[in-house]
Amino acid sequence: MQLPLQILEFREIPLELLVALCLAGFFLYYISAPFRKKRREEKETAREKYKEEQKIERIERYKLQIMARENRKKVRRQRLKSLLIPSFLNSKIHRDTWGQTLSEKTDPTPENLKNELYFERANQHCEWCEERVDTPEIHHIVPRSEGGKNTASNLIVLCPNCHRKADRGVISRSKLEYKLNRKMENWSSISD
Ligand SMILES: [Zn+2]
Repeated sequence: MQLPLQILEFREIPLELLVALCLAGFFLYYISAPFRKKRREEKETAREKYKEEQKIERIERYKLQIMARENRKKVRRQRLKSLLIPSFLNSKIHRDTWGQTLSEKTDPTPENLKNELYFERANQHCEWCEERVDTPEIHHIVPRSEGGKNTASNLIVLCPNCHRKADRGVISRSKLEYKLNRKMENWSSISD
């Protein structure tokens, strides 16, 4: 204990000041304890929250992956089916299911409207895949069984292959609608 005190004297630092500083230090430490604890807890909860969010995000991502996989499977199955089942069989099934609601169905499309759409608007091409088609089929975007009208904006000229896809929902209604709207725009601008 002799030596430190001598150093203090040498440097002319009063012992009282040192003691006071020490006491003040302890006091501050004691006073700030609850605040420090609070901050620690806050950090901890933030970390927990982050972990939880990460977990939820991972689950969401996983769900999306599963959904995408299911969709791919479905499309593959439909493609396989459309390859395996000949088109004439398909159209028969189609007619049978529609036959039940015959009374509510819209009348068949008039032949002259069909021809006008095929020759004038579609220019003898499938309006979906744009391939030249000699055996055109008229597809109702809103089906006749649902009261879909025989109007140019509800009828799309398709090749048998695309028609089958459209009937099975492989090509969605909204996509057909979108494509048809573009055709209608072009058509009206030509005929104007
Ligand atoms: Zn086509």
